[in-house]
Amino acid sequence: MTEEVIEENAQEDVQESRSQVVIPLLQHKGVICEPLVSVGDTVKIGQKIGSFDNDLGAPVHASVSGEVIALEERPHPICSKMHSVVIEYDGTQEAIRFKGNRSANKDEILETLKESGIIDLDGNSVYFKLNTGKIIDSILINLTDAGDLSSNFTPENIPQIISGLKILLKASGASRGAFVVKKDDGQTNSALKGKLGGEDDIDLFPVKRGYSSTMLNLLAYEMTGMRVSNIGIPADVGVLIFSAYSALAVSEAVLEGIPPININVTVSGAVKQPGVKRSVVGTSFREVIESCGGYVGKPGKIIVNDIITGIAQFTDEVPVTKATTQIIVQSEDEVLRDKPGPCLHCARCVDVCPANILPGLIASQSDIGRYDECEKLHANSCIECGLCSMVCPSKRHLLQLIRYSKHALLRSFMIREEKESSNLKLGCASCQSPCHMGAPMIFVEGK
Ligand code: SF4
Ligand code: SF4
Repeated sequence: MTEEVIEENAQEDVQESRSQVVIPLLQHKGVICEPLVSVGDTVKIGQKIGSFDNDLGAPVHASVSGEVIALEERPHPICSKMHSVVIEYDGTQEAIRFKGNRSANKDEILETLKESGIIDLDGNSVYFKLNTGKIIDSILINLTDAGDLSSNFTPENIPQIISGLKILLKASGASRGAFVVKKDDGQTNSALKGKLGGEDDIDLFPVKRGYSSTMLNLLAYEMTGMRVSNIGIPADVGVLIFSAYSALAVSEAVLEGIPPININVTVSGAVKQPGVKRSVVGTSFREVIESCGGYVGKPGKIIVNDIITGIAQFTDEVPVTKATTQIIVQSEDEVLRDKPGPCLHCARCVDVCPANILPGLIASQSDIGRYDECEKLHANSCIECGLCSMVCPSKRHLLQLIRYSKHALLRSFMIREEKESSNLKLGCASCQSPCHMGAPMIFVEGK
C-alpha cells in the first residue's frame, strides 16, 4: 500500500493561461451526475464534485483547485450544451490526499474504478464495462485506433499500460490478456515485443485493419469467431476491449489513487506547433490550441476525436473532457463546402459498409424523418465507421444522417412516445407507392 500527496502536477502542458475550467457533469454514455458542490465552495484537485448513485453514472472530479463560480449550462463537445461545474483556478494546485493500493483485491479494484469514473473511448465507463455480470475470458487492449495510439502509446507509457491490463485481468477474472496490433504497424509491434518477455498470460493479437472505438463488436468477432448482435456488446462473447488510454488511467487510479483529471490530447492540422498536449480536464479547446502556438490563419472547422467520425464544434470554448483524444483544426481552405448532391445509386456506400446495411437508403429516410423506416433498414447496426461518407461521390452526409436516426430511435425508445411519422408512408406524388423511376417522393397517409 502506498500513499502520496500530489501537490503539483509538473506534467501539465496546458496550464499557464488557464483561469477557469468547465467540468461537464456528463462525460460518458449514461446518466448525468448530480453536483456535489455549490457556487462559492472551494475545491481541491481530485475532489469528487459530481456523482450519480448507480452503475450508470461516472463521477467527475475537480481538475484544479479553486472556487466554484457557476453551476450552469456550458458548451459541450458532444452534447452541444451540458450542465457543468465552473471552477476559478486559485493557482495553489492544492490536492486531496491520493491513496493508491498496489495489492488491491478484485473488490477493491472495482470499488476504486467505480469511484474514479474513468471513461473509455467508446463513451462507457470502465467500471460499467467490467460490471456486466457476464463471464469474461479475455481482455483486449486495442492498439489499432490511430488517435488513441498517437496520444497515449509511447515507449515510456508501455509498462504502465501493461500494469493497467494486469489490473483489468484481475478485476474481470479473465484468464488471458492481449494487445491488438495492426500487422503492418512495425513500430508498435517491436515496442511491445521488447516489454512482454516473461508475461505468460499476455499475448499480441495481430489484425489486418484498424478498429476505432465504435467497431469493438467487429473486433470481438475477429478475435472469437462469434458474432455480436447490433444491440450486443463484446462481453456477450466473453471479451472486454479497452483503449490504451483506459489501461493507463486504470493503472494510475489503482496504483496511485489518482482519478482521470489530466488527459493526453493530440492537436493536429492548422495549428502552429501540432503535437500531444497533456491537458487538464475542463480546459477549453482554445487554450489547448493556444498552447500549440495558436491557429495558422483563420480556422475553418474544429473537429473532436477523429477526422472521419468526429464531431465538428460550434465554438472553441468547449472543454476537454475525459473522452477527448484529438483536436483537429481545418483551415478555411480545407473545409469541404460542396453541397451534397442527389444519390447516384452507385452503391459505393453499400460496397464499403462493414455492417452490411444500405447507408444511402437509411440516410435518405433519416433526412425526411422516417426513423421507423431507418429502424427496419437496421440503422442501429451502423458502427459509425464513416466509410460510406468517405466514398460517396455526391458528398452526401451519410454518417451524420444515420447517426441522427440512431439518436432519434433511442430517444423514442426511451420516452416511449409514438413516433410522429408512424402513420405516414413515403410514396410517389401520383401513385402513392415507392417510386423506382426517381419521381419526387411525398408523405402520404398510411393505412
Ligand atoms: S455512395 Fe452516395 S451516391 Fe452512391 S449510392 Fe451511396 S449515397 Fe448514393
Ligand atoms: S458509417 Fe456507413 S459504412 Fe460505416 S457502418 Fe455505418 S452505414 Fe456502414
